Amino acid sequence: MVAENAKIIRDRIARACKRVGRSGDDITLIAVTKSFGTEEIRMAYEAGIRDIGENYVQEARRKHEELSDKPLRWHFIGHLQSNKIKYLADWISMIHTVDSIELGKQLSAWGARTKRTFDVLVEVNTTGEATKYGVTIEKASSLAKELSTLPNIHLRGFMTIGRFLPDPEESRPAFRSLRKLRDVMQGEGVPMTDLSMGMTNDFEVAIEEGATHVRIGTGLFGKRPKKNLEEEKQ
Ligand SMILES: *Cc1c(COP(=O)(O)O)cnc(C)c1O
Repeated sequence: MVAENAKIIRDRIARACKRVGRSGDDITLIAVTKSFGTEEIRMAYEAGIRDIGENYVQEARRKHEELSDKPLRWHFIGHLQSNKIKYLADWISMIHTVDSIELGKQLSAWGARTKRTFDVLVEVNTTGEATKYGVTIEKASSLAKELSTLPNIHLRGFMTIGRFLPDPEESRPAFRSLRKLRDVMQGEGVPMTDLSMGMTNDFEVAIEEGATHVRIGTGLFGKRPKKNLEEEKQ
């Protein structure tokens, strides 16, 4: 089932790219596996997926350990507290959710000690909803500029979450505003390229608006099992 779903998602990605004259190769499909098990990740791997997105540090760490034989790239897409950096620093490929200069500095300091650089995105709350993490679009450019000067941080771009509404068109203005901001930053000499935006319900609109990374959970794996509250409290 995961393989079939992956094929359907890839076809939809390709068609969305075609509509706006982009290449499907420019899009990284991230399988979001929070609250699913390593079995689902293996199925995604069999379907050719190499990028995995996780929201919770302990859960991600456990799965990474179990699957350490697999050449996967792990993306952290949940809220990251700086005291948890040590648990993922050795193996995380990209952190999508940097929303403060303090977190950026802690990551950079950790990177200096362990001789690695972290690929990061600034999480932007493009819809202004109080329930979401991320900096406002007004603050995003100054944070991005500050982060881009830190030695062990490689600022790759921005991340955002669209509106949780049935009509994906409702997310389009948010995605477009983030793309514009990315373009402005590039114009000002900040070499950022990536836009992590679009989930199962709105990834095609996100691609039309310039997404480079789409984060797909239910579209690949079906409905998520009930959340493990203990794990979430970690
Ligand atoms: C859960 C989650 C996703 C995937 O959502 P689906 O609607 O299941 O595709 C993507 N991004 C973030 C940040 C998430 O928390």
